[in-house]
Amino acid sequence: MLADNLEKINQEIQLACQRSARTIEDVTMIAVTKSVESGRAKELAELGIENMAENRVDKLLEKKMALKDFSAIKWHLIGNLQRRKVKLIINEIDYFHALDSLKLAEEIQKRAVKPIACFVEVNITGEDSKHGFRSEDVLEFIQELASFDKIRIIGLMTMAPLDASEQVLHDVFSKLKILQSTINNQHLSYAPCTELSMGMSNDFPIAIEEGATFVRIGTAIFRGA
Ligand SMILES: *Cc1c(COP(=O)(O)O)cnc(C)c1O
Repeated sequence: MLADNLEKINQEIQLACQRSARTIEDVTMIAVTKSVESGRAKELAELGIENMAENRVDKLLEKKMALKDFSAIKWHLIGNLQRRKVKLIINEIDYFHALDSLKLAEEIQKRAVKPIACFVEVNITGEDSKHGFRSEDVLEFIQELASFDKIRIIGLMTMAPLDASEQVLHDVFSKLKILQSTINNQHLSYAPCTELSMGMSNDFPIAIEEGATFVRIGTAIFRGA
């Protein structure tokens, strides 16, 4: 049952918060619905889930249309976005988690009708297969956005390597947190970098212990349900 899975996830979030002396209000669970049909997403909405994510533009638009009666839902685009698709999606979402180039930022600036909450995607481990900025390039990128009034950098996002040990996961997530404080030390008005989007089904408790404020969970919601 979906409700049971959600309850279990909620308990794990709560425990991770207790272990790290954090409050559960500071952690938002985003339901990643990319592996299911709109009908299942609707069941989640009926259970009160108000943050939904997709990693593809067409799928997000499809789900949003199917769930148009649930006006409280916040829509998160978590996947890599091609420049030519920006105009289709940028005014349909509440959060964009994968800002990974200046060219993309320029296109968003051009197409957005109001400021959009963005996360800069960071490739902490520097794997070639991954999107995102290397840690050492993030601050300079954010500084280049000073005149982009349609982009609000509300935080950083990362994906941990698959099959990483707990030790490596702690290390990756804590590095994102450290990078966040480097950025916040600059006190840039357009980059109130207060959020950390990190943690998926397999690693969200560790991400929370290291300071995640948004966890993106798919598989664990639908497993066996
Ligand atoms: C699919 C996806 C998730 C959710 O992954 P699960 O392991 O299914 O929880 C989170 N973030 C991104 C960027 C994804 O593409």
